[in-house]
This record gives sequence, structure tokens and C-alpha cells, in this order.
Amino acid sequence: MPTGKTSNRSSKKSSRASTKADTVRDPAHDARLVRDLCRWFEVSARDLPWRKTGNAGKRDPYRSLVSEFMLQQTQVSRVLEKFGPFIERFPTLSALASADEDDVLAMWSGLGYYRRARSLHHCAQEASTRFGELPVSVDDLVSLKGIGRYTAGAIASIVHNEPAPIVDGNVERVLLRIEGQPFRAGEPDTRDWCWDRAEELVKQAAKSRAKSVSPAAFNEALMELGALVCTPRSPSCLTCPLRTDCRACQTGQQHEIPAPKARQARKPLYMACAIVENKKSQLLISQRPKGGLWGGLWEVPGLESDSPVPIEALAARLGVATKDLIRHNEFVFETTHRSVKVEVYRATRAGSVTGGRWVTRNELETLALGSLQSRVIASLTARKESL
Ligand code: SF4
Repeated sequence: MPTGKTSNRSSKKSSRASTKADTVRDPAHDARLVRDLCRWFEVSARDLPWRKTGNAGKRDPYRSLVSEFMLQQTQVSRVLEKFGPFIERFPTLSALASADEDDVLAMWSGLGYYRRARSLHHCAQEASTRFGELPVSVDDLVSLKGIGRYTAGAIASIVHNEPAPIVDGNVERVLLRIEGQPFRAGEPDTRDWCWDRAEELVKQAAKSRAKSVSPAAFNEALMELGALVCTPRSPSCLTCPLRTDCRACQTGQQHEIPAPKARQARKPLYMACAIVENKKSQLLISQRPKGGLWGGLWEVPGLESDSPVPIEALAARLGVATKDLIRHNEFVFETTHRSVKVEVYRATRAGSVTGGRWVTRNELETLALGSLQSRVIASLTARKESL
């Protein structure tokens, strides 16, 4: 049974988390926890392509790197569709490092959060230049731009079996529930507490002599439990391998822990864009500047602003008259920080934009479009089919 903490902070659901210093641990509890979790993982782990091992029974660090970048904020089912083609196109770190950024973004298409693709690309370039390959230690890994403590810990532990902790949203939730800590999710103090706890447990895993127990197995098991069993809204405590050692389960608090994040309102953004087709049924597109929102992605020409975009401004951008623009569709698109109100027009005359390019539908599929732009293009097809 974990000793946990006695604190009036819990009853107030404060975000202030404890530190190692005011926490007394039960080594037997930790050993049991690590053992039961690793045993469960041995029989329950999903067969995922990035988990395949090479001849020496070892994971490929490059495949692990790609999967870790892809899995950030993206569902496994979506990553499963994209991982194989990406690895086929860029089979090694050096192949990715020497690739053109537009090709990398195009292969990332459908995964969203394109900043990760650029970051992965830069990371491969830097690792190739400085180390020749992906480094092994957490310190060297975090020295690469784009690799944070979580990704470094995942590669060092899962590939090289280093006792490096990892904490993401899944791990945070599992650890807080096991120890019955109702801190607010995602806050800095909560994360600090979780990193300390994860480090204690992965070190415990490194000490174990049991065959199924290792830092690699423990870290993956923790993530797997958070993804499959200890889920945010419906934790399956009855079938959980940790239920006898889980404080939240014992006290019936599994649905209250962690306390929900304080929500921040999304900032409004207004976008007006136009679908422009020429007589060959090609579409006019342009590429966004490399930095900033949706940087480097392709889009139908448009304008955006913190206030509604006048049709006159859109017409001027395209070099057409306002009467040449017909209202086609509108929808709201939400990103993590923005609520984008999108107005889509169709141009009855083939205008032009600086840096614009005419492409066929097939060519469009080879370019990196964000989800918002895919929806704009899809609205064109849907409207045509319904006519
Ligand atoms: S017993 Fe329930 S709350 Fe505890 S770790 Fe398992 S699924 Fe999560």
C-alpha cells in the first residue's frame, strides 16, 4: 500500500504537487507495482510496427524516433496508416536527413501538427551531422532540437533499456491514480511530481531480476496501461493488473483523478479563401510562409485576420472583382489554441496570386495540406456531387 501524502492540499484539489522530500515510499509496493505491470504487458502488448525488433532482439532507434514524433497528440490508429509508408519512403535517419522538406511534409499529410514533421526532419539532420546516428544517452538526445525529455527517455529506455523515466498525459494519469493524488492535470508542479515518481519506479524496474521486468518493459507498460485500461473517462479497474495496489480504485476516486485542466478559451481567427479553377480543371494553390501557423503547407489562396475578412480584400488578393466571387461554404475549424471561422468562395474567373501554382487533383494529393485545407477541398467535391 502506498504511503502517499497526508495533505490538506488534496481536498482543495490544488495544483501544488508534493516533492520527493515529503513523500515516504513503500519499497514492497513499488516492487509489486513494477512486476505486475510488466507481467501484464508481456501478454497484453499490442503488436505495433515500431515495436518490431531486429536480429539482436533490439528495437531500431530510428523507427522509435519516428513513431514517438508521430504519436504526439495523434491516435495510434492514424499513426498506423502513416508509419509504414513514411518508413518506406525514408528508411533510415540519413535518408530522412537528406530529404527535401516538402517531401517530408507530404508524407506527413493526414497526421496534422506539421510542426512535428519539420522538427523531426531538423532533428534527423542535426543527429546525422553531430553524431552520425541517433545518440544513446538522454543528455545527448535532449541536446537535439525537437527532442524533449519525454522522447529522449522513451528512446533511451525502450531501445537501450536505460532507466530513464518518461511522462506524458497517459503516464501522468496512471501515476496520479495509483497514488491517489488529485492534482490538476498538466500543471508544472503535477508534472514535476510525476517525473520524480516515474524515475523512482523505472529505477525499481532496473533493479529487478525477474525476466519480464526491465526499464524498457516498464515504461512501455505504463504507457500501454494508460492507453488501453486506465483511460481518461472509463478506467477498466476490474481488469486492471494494478487494482490491488491502486489508491484511486480503492477509494473510488478513479473518475475524479486527475482534476481537470483549467480550460483556456480559443482565440478567434477569421479566414476567407477562394477555390479558383482554370479551364483545365486545375486548382490554384499557394504555399504558406515557413514560420507561423500551418507554416510551409499548401492552401487555396486566402486571407486571415483577427476580425472578419472583407470580400473586397480577398478579391484584391486574387486580382478579380468582388462579383467574380460566389459564396460556397463556411465552417468552423478548431485548433488547440484557435477557433477559425472559415468562409469559402468560388471564383468564376481564373485569378492569380504571387507565388501561386496550378495543380491537378492528383498532384494536390502529393502535397502537404493541413486538415483545414483538406476540408475546404472536400467541400468542393461534396458540393459538386450533390448538384
Ligand atoms: S485500478 Fe483503475 S484507476 Fe487504478 S490504475 Fe488501474 S485502471 Fe487506473
